[in-house]
Amino acid sequence: RTGPARIRTARTRTARTTGGPPVTTGDFEGLAALVTGGASGIGAAIAATLRDRGARVAVLDRDPSGAPDGTLALKADVTSDEAIRTAVDAAVSEFGALHTLVGNAGIGAIGSVEDNSDEEWHRLLDINVLGLVRTARAALPHLRAAAADRPGAVSITHTCSIAATAGLPQRAAYSASKGAVLSLTLAMAADHIREGVRVNCVNPGTADTPWVGRLLDQAPDPAAERAALEARQPTGRLVSADEVAAAVAYLASPAAAAVTGTALAVDGGMQGLRLRPA
Ligand code: NAD
Repeated sequence: RTGPARIRTARTRTARTTGGPPVTTGDFEGLAALVTGGASGIGAAIAATLRDRGARVAVLDRDPSGAPDGTLALKADVTSDEAIRTAVDAAVSEFGALHTLVGNAGIGAIGSVEDNSDEEWHRLLDINVLGLVRTARAALPHLRAAAADRPGAVSITHTCSIAATAGLPQRAAYSASKGAVLSLTLAMAADHIREGVRVNCVNPGTADTPWVGRLLDQAPDPAAERAALEARQPTGRLVSADEVAAAVAYLASPAAAAVTGTALAVDGGMQGLRLRPA
């Protein structure tokens, strides 16, 4: 465990958003959240958004150095059951309860089934799928306990991907892992609805995060590759991490008390639209 960062209560701090009015609600006031992979990219945006909307937030990450200010940074790898349990217990002992779990930590892999070894498949599934299972297992007793006090406000949200259903080229192992995340989300929603725990996922399209930056940097001409990637988006731009975070915050908020077993696409229309070629 790295030293706990300063915890700040934030009733009406202005959230960082891309476009639209600033979010100044305190709809997470009194709620405690834990975000895995919350030290970079989408997870860091989720942690900052929940914090700005009033939650006390713990970040569980194998490298928590980038955890947003005002969050409790916890070092743990989601491949370790023991490390996860220690981190979840640390968050609950700091906050007194846990209402919101966001399972977001994940890694990518490029290639067809002929390209990735069994070891690469096992590693990907271990992090992207079993990582969520282990985290939920450690958190569920606390979530169940919190549900009695805050009906409708207790939830698990997974960061899935449009890769779960899109048939993307050169993403066999990654897509299979995210397909499993989608099915897992639906099955968990069914298992825990009567316990007052809602379970949903977001399906981001290509989001502008350090991960995507690392992929682009491998191209011979990163700027040209980025322009080509943007041109493939119906909106002509990548999704921002803050936009994904806003969707997660909605799904986790009391406003979504009737929403469970749902996958919310935040993909700039990538999957739903059938645009005619220009
Ligand atoms: P990122 O690499 O910027 O951040 C991932 C974070 O997860 C990092 O802080 C990393 O340290 C942490 N992490 C990775 N493996 C871990 C492990 N074993 N244990 C603990 N922490 C671990 O990536 P991102 O783009 O923000 O992606 C976050 C999630 O969003 C992933 O699940 C990814 O599949 C999903 N996603 C991303 C995109 C995209 O285009 N960026 C699109 C769809 C879905």
